[in-house]
Amino acid sequence: MKFQPKASHFIDGEYVESTAGEPIEVIYPATGETIARLNAATPAIVEKALQSAKSAQKNWGAATGAERGRVLNRAAEILRATNYDLSVLETHDTGKPIQETLVADASIGADALEYFGGLAASWTGEYITLANGDFAFTIPEPLGVCVGIGAWNYPIQIACFKAAPALACGNAMIFKPSETTPLSALKLAEVLVQAGAPKGIFNVVQGYGDVGAALVADRRVAKVSLTGSVPTGRKVYAAAAEGMKHITMELGGKSPLIVFDDANLESAVSGAIVGNFFSSGQICSNGTRVFVQKRIKAAFLERLCSRLASARIGDPMDPQVNFGPMISQRQLEIVKTYIAQGLAEGARLVYGGFQLNRPGFFVQPTVFADVTDEMTIAREEIFGPVMSVLEFDTEEEVVVRANATEFGLAAGVFTDDLTRAHRVSKAFEAGICFINTYNVMPVEIPVGGSKLSGVGRENSKIALQQYTEMKTIYVSLNEVRAPY
Ligand code: NDP
Repeated sequence: MKFQPKASHFIDGEYVESTAGEPIEVIYPATGETIARLNAATPAIVEKALQSAKSAQKNWGAATGAERGRVLNRAAEILRATNYDLSVLETHDTGKPIQETLVADASIGADALEYFGGLAASWTGEYITLANGDFAFTIPEPLGVCVGIGAWNYPIQIACFKAAPALACGNAMIFKPSETTPLSALKLAEVLVQAGAPKGIFNVVQGYGDVGAALVADRRVAKVSLTGSVPTGRKVYAAAAEGMKHITMELGGKSPLIVFDDANLESAVSGAIVGNFFSSGQICSNGTRVFVQKRIKAAFLERLCSRLASARIGDPMDPQVNFGPMISQRQLEIVKTYIAQGLAEGARLVYGGFQLNRPGFFVQPTVFADVTDEMTIAREEIFGPVMSVLEFDTEEEVVVRANATEFGLAAGVFTDDLTRAHRVSKAFEAGICFINTYNVMPVEIPVGGSKLSGVGRENSKIALQQYTEMKTIYVSLNEVRAPY
């Protein structure tokens, strides 16, 4: 098998296998063929990963930020130099078009390694002057062993977004990829060792939810960062609370994208396309509830549908193809069920709606118009290429409707009115808001959700705080007085 790794897990600087673990079949979503066979971690493998990370972290935590930064920067260089091969791997693991993986996966992961590598040396504490000459200072200390658990839509990118700040701050990380896309995190582990990372500071163990749960429950683990769905987030958050562990939760969404009638129509249509159909709609921050102001609704739908007609759906390895399959048969079925529900509840199908008659898990980009706020497709995260277009009249009305969701990950507004753009963004109940664009998230900006969409932030300088125990040292220059 062309994409068979040397072994299932990567622990303490080397590939490790145990065939006693539950089998994991890796499927190429474009054809349904098996491209690798792995085994889930047994308790013994999990234990090995924990011991290795725990012991490696001591020296790594004691290294200077500059030393750690150098390793991350070298790893970024290697990722960039091997971007093509990694993109081919990611395309086979996820089914995403090579056109996308070449620019949005390993290369963005490299951005994160470079960014946090650059910040590592400047991550210092502060000096605080106090009354009567007393003072305090803070020391940013690593948390220890951190666990990263990934979703399947951006496997290597998610691994880098978690590993880069964790390692920059002196932690070790054990990463469990989604069992659907287990391959590229192993490559990242190899690359880090090649870049000079000490053995054990980035271990990868494969497995299903139970392996993630075993890691989260272990007393040696100080922090858990999860990218996944809200139901999994609830379980992981609760399990982490038992040990009062630090957490970051990057969860799902049902984000609004508002298009006012003064907006640049072509740009708004582009925003709706990238905010719904990139990665075949399997993006947490997608603006799947597209609110379009009444006066331009017909024109918007007409342009949207005519542009969707030129989407190239097919073999993800064809550089011209820009729309690939769903990750799995299961996800395809979920999407088809939502499409059927949209129709049953009276939404008007204006584009797509059908599975493609070819091998693999392909469904057309799909647009529903005349969607109302109560419909299931407007309330639940579908995690597939299904856009709901809703009509609105006034700004006041649409802001209330946009916020009427339990999620709060992202939101967008298209308008040429500067004041309104800021007013609406300020009113959004969401972690990431976009004005006249959508889903642009370079590593310099904080990413994360409010409400059920998550807790904490990834990327940006804030991520350093999220992998740090800030120790305070109070220094008195005065005699201590006691009341008796
Ligand atoms: P899941 O929540 O199903 O799984 C996420 C990860 O958690 C997987 O590795 C999974 O393993 C693991 N897991 C499952 N149960 C447990 C448990 N009890 N304890 C520990 N780990 C567990 O998400 P998907 O992989 O289906 O990804 C899709 C979801 O991720 C969507 O809701 C999407 O919105 C969200 N997402 C959020 C992003 C963000 O940044 N906010 C970005 C990308 C996706 P296994 O796969 O074996 O079940």
